[in-house]
Amino acid sequence: MKYFIANWKMYVGRADAVMLAEIARAAKTAEGVQTIVCPSFVHIDAVGRVVSGSAVVLGAQDAYFESSGAFTSAVGIKELKELGVSHVLVGHSERRRYFGETDEAVNKKVKAAYAGGLQPVVCVGETEQERTAGQTESRVSAQVRTAFQGVSVKKVIIAYEPIWAIGTGKASSSADARAVHQLIKQIVKETNGSQCSVLYGGSVTPDNMHEFWNTTDIDGVLVGGASARKETLSSLLALLSF
Ligand code: PEP
Repeated sequence: MKYFIANWKMYVGRADAVMLAEIARAAKTAEGVQTIVCPSFVHIDAVGRVVSGSAVVLGAQDAYFESSGAFTSAVGIKELKELGVSHVLVGHSERRRYFGETDEAVNKKVKAAYAGGLQPVVCVGETEQERTAGQTESRVSAQVRTAFQGVSVKKVIIAYEPIWAIGTGKASSSADARAVHQLIKQIVKETNGSQCSVLYGGSVTPDNMHEFWNTTDIDGVLVGGASARKETLSSLLALLSF
């Protein structure tokens, strides 16, 4: 299975979210390709109505680890499931950076997602500074190990998203990404023994998508900006049809 995940972040209003969902629904994708769209919480119901009954499935951009209670503004796994969500991004670098999400919180969210029947897509990646200091492997290893501590499941999905590549127009080379994907797969094999898919994210566009999509050990892509504009989303989806 290969995954195409569209993360619309806080980029679009309701009408545009619906329009993007219609584009995703209409796209012809090859067998073995799973398209997952992640609107903001407030558009999940509207987008869900558009993709309902199609091959496109719904993802959320985050979820809280507590199941219910006095947690103003938080959204829980059960609420997402009620809306038809099947996947949830956990530990996106923007959550870590702007909302103080720690590796430990990511671990709690991963456990809560599995316990509640959602497939987490765990985002990991190093900063520019860590990369320059030669710390990519140690940082990513630590993130993966902590995220899956105490987790024993059949299926793991991880998105390797170097922070310096997110929204910057400076994508990783497919060779560099592949090396990190191999490392992640090795760690998951040793620690969890789970089946593991690793997606690449960071400035994927219609121009470089083909390269990532066709590189061994890259099991799909997580796309932000280019998935939130109708022209580029259409071009990206067109590449999934063969
Ligand atoms: C993302 O938000 O996960 C992402 C990869 O963003 P972009 O494609 O805009 O770099």
